[in-house]
Amino acid sequence: MPIPSDPAPQDADEQLYECVDCGARVCSDERVTACPECEGRVQNISRPRPE
Ligand SMILES: [Zn+2]
Repeated sequence: MPIPSDPAPQDADEQLYECVDCGARVCSDERVTACPECEGRVQNISRPRPE
């Protein structure tokens, strides 16, 4: 069984968020304020792209 890879932003507008409580990751081009899994706090872990 292939190991699922972490979601990654597919375009420049998408940001990667990680839940500080359960570690779930979600990509969105809109601001994410709550974990879709546990409704915990999320932090934006996207790295700014090098210009
Ligand atoms: Zn969570």
